[in-house]
Amino acid sequence: MPATKFICPDGKRIDITDCLSSCPKQQRCMFLPTLRAVANSLNRQISEPTVTELIAGIRETFLKKTTDYAVDPASVLYALHGQAVHSINERHTQGNILSEERLKDEITSGQFDS
Ligand code: SF4
Repeated sequence: MPATKFICPDGKRIDITDCLSSCPKQQRCMFLPTLRAVANSLNRQISEPTVTELIAGIRETFLKKTTDYAVDPASVLYALHGQAVHSINERHTQGNILSEERLKDEITSGQFDS
């Protein structure tokens, strides 16, 4: 199940789609493109279990896969930054360097840095 709600700074929850279309608060807590990037990063379509999931707690991974949940967008910024670095590495590696390659087998998948 995906993340379906954002947690606003005042602790209230809002559907991500509602937040992205119009913030009901006086002022957005974060720049709209950043919120869109956070939303995209939360619902990546990877069907195999990932290394990131395997190193997280079993209960956390189970609940994320079986239950809709809410996230504080500010808490995702470091993860988003990490994903951006993967993209930068992927686009700026020249020659015969193997970089940012998602490898998978019948059990799991993981993306490896150069
Ligand atoms: S922009 Fe921030 S404060 Fe506004 S609805 Fe979205 S999460 Fe809540």
